Amino acid sequence: MNMKAIYPGSFDPVTKGHMDIIHRSASIFDEVIVAVLENKRKESLFTIQERVKLLQQSIGELHTIKNVKVESFSGLLVDFCRQKKSNIIIRGLRAVSDYEYEMQMALVNKQLDDDIETFFLASRGEYAYLSSSIVKEVASFGGEFKDFIPECVYDKMIERLKGGQDGIN
Ligand code: ADP
Repeated sequence: MNMKAIYPGSFDPVTKGHMDIIHRSASIFDEVIVAVLENKRKESLFTIQERVKLLQQSIGELHTIKNVKVESFSGLLVDFCRQKKSNIIIRGLRAVSDYEYEMQMALVNKQLDDDIETFFLASRGEYAYLSSSIVKEVASFGGEFKDFIPECVYDKMIERLKGGQDGIN
């Protein structure tokens, strides 16, 4: 059986914590689709196209991952899963603080489609503190953030910081 999993998120921007989940999922499932959520109500640093491209480049940098695709979606995740003929959702869990929201999402998705199963991968200890928002916060105050994100994301963030017009928030 071909096990296809969907790893959804905002990825604004992708961090090394996300990359670790992608890497580990790719070795468990036959196929992984990283699904970047287009949420028009949520302001983002990078556009949906930029986020998709940065993920593709970050995956490319690792060379070893061959079974991961990056796509964007809007609307309900369960609809995207059906469209992709996958019933597996992957989410990462960092700390107890992630639990309530993640549990809520998993239960709602299960309610919407009983065939869907959510799999949680525990964050690696070294990335348990890492989030896209903390990276943006450190960067906006001029702190060193190179170690948190893939190299291509770093370059793009520096470019954005210099460009100024959108700022980092
Ligand atoms: P969302 O807005 O859907 O939470 P994110 O891009 O913030 O999107 O996160 C996507 C998924 O990746 C979530 O399941 C989140 O818990 C997980 N994740 C984020 N950062 C890390 C990390 N450092 N380690 C492990 N999982 C993470």
